[in-house]
Amino acid sequence: MKTKHAHALVIGGGIAGLLAARVLTDTFERVTIIERDQLPTGYQERPGTPQASHLHVLLARGHQIFEQLFPNLTEEWIAAGAPTFDHGLHGRTLYKTGWSPRVQSDVIVYGASRMLVEGSIRHRVLKHPRIEVLQGQDVVALVHENDTITGVQLRPRGFNQAPHTISADLIVHSAGRNSRLHEWLAVLGYDQPEKTIVTANVGYSTRSFVTPERMKHEDRAWLILPRPPHIRRGGIMIALENNITTLTLLGVEEDYPPTDEAGFMEFARSLPVPEIYEMIKDATPVGPIHGYRKLENQMYHYDRIKMPKRLLVLGDAYTALNPIYGQGMTVASESAMALSDVLRMYSDPLDEIGVIFQKRLAKMVAGAWMLSTSEDARWPKAQGAKRDPMTRFLHWYLDQVLAVLMNDPITYQTFIQVQHGFKMPTALFQPRTLLRVLANAISPKSRTAGQTPEPHLQTGEVPTL
Ligand SMILES: Cc1cc2nc3c(=O)[nH]c(=O)nc-3n(C[C@H](O)[C@H](O)[C@H](O)COP(=O)(O)OP(=O)(O)OC[C@H]3O[C@@H](n4cnc5c(N)ncnc54)[C@H](O)[C@@H]3O)c2cc1C
Repeated sequence: MKTKHAHALVIGGGIAGLLAARVLTDTFERVTIIERDQLPTGYQERPGTPQASHLHVLLARGHQIFEQLFPNLTEEWIAAGAPTFDHGLHGRTLYKTGWSPRVQSDVIVYGASRMLVEGSIRHRVLKHPRIEVLQGQDVVALVHENDTITGVQLRPRGFNQAPHTISADLIVHSAGRNSRLHEWLAVLGYDQPEKTIVTANVGYSTRSFVTPERMKHEDRAWLILPRPPHIRRGGIMIALENNITTLTLLGVEEDYPPTDEAGFMEFARSLPVPEIYEMIKDATPVGPIHGYRKLENQMYHYDRIKMPKRLLVLGDAYTALNPIYGQGMTVASESAMALSDVLRMYSDPLDEIGVIFQKRLAKMVAGAWMLSTSEDARWPKAQGAKRDPMTRFLHWYLDQVLAVLMNDPITYQTFIQVQHGFKMPTALFQPRTLLRVLANAISPKSRTAGQTPEPHLQTGEVPTL
C-alpha cells in the first residue's frame, strides 16, 4: 500500500501504543514510539506497566484482532507453552446461580500472561522496518502551533536535562491509566476534559504458582466472582505458559486482598468455595505477591472538548475499565481498528481526523463502559454509578439469564460468545433466550442444576443464593 504521510508519533509503548503503531504504518512512511521504560528483550515485567503481573484475560474478539494485525502471533504463545482451552469446557465459573455447566462454547482462550502477549507484539513491532522505538524517553509536553500539535518534548527518563523536540504529522497518545495529557493541554490553554469515575473500589493481589496437577489437563481456569451485594471476595486462577498458574485474588468495596503471605492465604481460604485454596495450599509459589488498588472505571471526555488538531488519544489514557470484566486489551485492539478505518477514509488532510476519531471512539467504547459500570453499580457502596430503571432492568434480566444458563447449554454458549465479543449483547434478547427468561421469571427453576455449593460466609454476611 502507498503511504500518504511522512511521520506519526505514538506516546507510550504499551498494548494500545503497539497496536496503534502497527496500523499507522499503513498510512505513514515512518512511525516513532516513545516509551519511558527500557524495554525488556523477552517477556519480563517492567515498571511502566505494573498491572502486567496481574492476570490478563484476552477476550476472543481481542485475540482475533491481534492475530489480524500480527499474523501467527498465537504460534509464538503456544511455542512459549501457553495452554489453549475451550472456555465452556475447561473454564469453571461460580456464578450466583451456581457452578457453570460444562458446554463446548467454541470460544478458545489462550493461557498467555500479559508479559507474553505484550512481548510477542513488541518483538514484531521492533522488527518492523518503518517503526522506531525510542526507549527510556519520557514525553513531558506537547509542541503546539496554530491550534495544531506539531510534536512532543522528551528527555531521558530520570534526568532533569532540558527536553528536546521531535516533530510529527500526527501524534497518538496512549500513555495509559495515569496519563497527564489533560495537564499538558491545560498548559497550552485548552480546556481540561471532564473526567467520569465509577468505582466499586476493587483491589487485586496476585501470585503465581507451579501449575497444580488438577489444572494441567482439565479445569484450566477458575473464576470465583464476587457476588453483590454481600460477597465481596473472589479469585481468578488461570494456567499460563511455562507450567505457571497465576491467581489473582480480588476484593470489592475496599475489602482488599492482602499482599503478605499469611494474609493472602487466609483471603484465599475465605472465598465462598474451597477449590482455589485447596489447590494453592501445597503449591509451590513463584515470585512475590503483587498488589494493585483503585481499579476504577475512568473516562476522560476528550470527545466533548475542543482539541488541538492532529492529536488523538486512545487506550487506557482515554477510558480505563474495571479489569474484572477483562475488556481493556480488547477495547485497545478495537480502537486500533477504528483508527485504521478513520485513517483509510479521512486522513487527507489530517487536520479533521482528531474530531472524527474521538467521536467514533466514544461510541465504540460505550458498550464496554456500560457493561463495566452497570455491573459495578450492583454494589451498594459503588461511587458514581447510575442506578436508573434501565440499569435495574439489565441487572434483573442478566440474573434471569444466569439462572437459565445453568440448565440450558445453548444459552450458556451464547452468553460466553457475548462475553468474548463474538456476538452483540442483543443476542441475549433473541426470542429463544427471551422466552426462557420469561418462563424462569414466572416459574423459577431450581438454581442448583450446576451444583451450587454453600458459600463460606464472611462474618455478618448473608448469602445471595
Ligand atoms: C490490575 C489490572 C488488571 C488488568 N486485567 C486485564 C485483563 O484481564 N484483560 C484485559 O484485556 N485488560 C486488563 N487490564 C487492562 C489493560 O492492562 C489495559 O487496558 C491495556 O493494556 C491497554 O493499556 P494501554 O496500552 O492504554 O496502557 P499501558 O499498558 O498502561 O501502557 C502505557 C505505556 O505508556 C508509557 N508511558 C506513560 N507515560 C509516558 C510518557 N510520559 N512518556 C513515554 N511513555 C509513557 C508507560 O510506560 C506504558 O508502557 C488490566 C489492568 C489492570 C490495572
